[in-house]
Amino acid sequence: MSCCAIVGINWGDEGKGRMVDLLTEEYDIVVRYQGGGNAGHTIVNEYGKFALHLLPSGIFRKGVVSVIGNGVALDPENLWKEIEEVRSRGIEITPENLKISDRASVLLPWHRDLDSLEEARLADKKYGSTKQGIAPFYSDKYQKKTIMVGELFYPEYVREHLAGITEWKNLILDKVYGAKQYTEKELLDWVDEYADKLKPFVCSTKEFLEGAVKEGKNILFEAQLGALRDLDYGIYPYTTSSNAIAAFAPVGSGLSSAKLDQVIGVVKAYSTCVGEGPFVCEWFGEEADKLREAGHEFGAKTGRARRVGPLDIVATRYGVDVQGATDLALTKMDILSYMEKIPVCTKYIIDGEETDLFPFPALLGKAQPKIEYLDGWNCDISGVRKWEDLPENARKYVEYIEQAVGCHITYVSVGAERDAYIYRS
Ligand code: GDP
Repeated sequence: MSCCAIVGINWGDEGKGRMVDLLTEEYDIVVRYQGGGNAGHTIVNEYGKFALHLLPSGIFRKGVVSVIGNGVALDPENLWKEIEEVRSRGIEITPENLKISDRASVLLPWHRDLDSLEEARLADKKYGSTKQGIAPFYSDKYQKKTIMVGELFYPEYVREHLAGITEWKNLILDKVYGAKQYTEKELLDWVDEYADKLKPFVCSTKEFLEGAVKEGKNILFEAQLGALRDLDYGIYPYTTSSNAIAAFAPVGSGLSSAKLDQVIGVVKAYSTCVGEGPFVCEWFGEEADKLREAGHEFGAKTGRARRVGPLDIVATRYGVDVQGATDLALTKMDILSYMEKIPVCTKYIIDGEETDLFPFPALLGKAQPKIEYLDGWNCDISGVRKWEDLPENARKYVEYIEQAVGCHITYVSVGAERDAYIYRS
């Protein structure tokens, strides 16, 4: 029996889905423990190319059970759409291979409305939300103003609970934003529609996972977004609204007693960032366009162009620390093949002082990157599967990062396909 978490070390989009899809072979259960449908994990496998938003990336493996834990923002509309889309491409999704925690809180229709309304109110000070309702949802969860999906099994209870919440939420929609209010009937019809669809999948993931531990099963916890977007440890307020770090996996899954044997941190060979907030290494203009095009850096959910720049050692070392990473997977090495010299940000300069510590968020806006260059390898490495077959300069790049961030790079990914990677023991 082993417990492993696969987490993002940077700003998200590091290729976590691709690594989970690869590593599920060794696991019986894959659990999503936080976040909602606001980001996308892209997976390329024998069924084709998929952008998963809420479904755990284990869904493609026969014999693997995928679990949506209590820490996830359960968006019934998007989840159902995703289940149908994935099913339509030949993948079986049944209550046997997908389990939803009865304690997952439900993202209600007004959460999406409120996300858009608030971003519009903020205008040029907006956070760059994907407008999937995630921030309003988590605010309500912690205010205890939403329902848990398990309540759907108790129609009278949920009816009464929702009536109280609707009254309160209508006050906010009306008085704060002057927006459309909801009738109780609208809400109940919506709940009824999705209750019928989702109920078969809902169970106590606590009992399920505790049972699995007793049977010696291997469990993989899958994060959405990276360490720098973690609500407590990230670049607040430009974070997500939940805890993406590995330490939250036990809490958000249902297996609160879990001890993680391994934490695999996923790092991209260069930096990307979606949305607003300080991004010290950001490139602009032609060199940014070139890297963005080479890496196809456009958001899986929104199609938005991602901000790009060189690998940021300062931020990556911090990400490794807060995740407690035991191993790293370095992805998208193949994308850097066109560069003659590979830039790396080794330090930040803040008020004229050099530092290799990731600063408190309020100082990030002042930080300037100190860039150093390593030699490139200038040849296609996407077909390489063995460490010794990588060009020397590519190996040096990997070893340099490993030494600079203080964590072993166990996997080097050179393509999006499942088998396009190099394992280093
Ligand atoms: P996630 O949210 O962390 O799973 O990352 P995304 O799915 O948003 O973004 C990663 C993108 O890079 C996806 O389109 C993957 O298919 C792709 N990808 C992952 N690893 C590699 C790699 O090593 N090389 C290339 N060329 N693409 C990769």
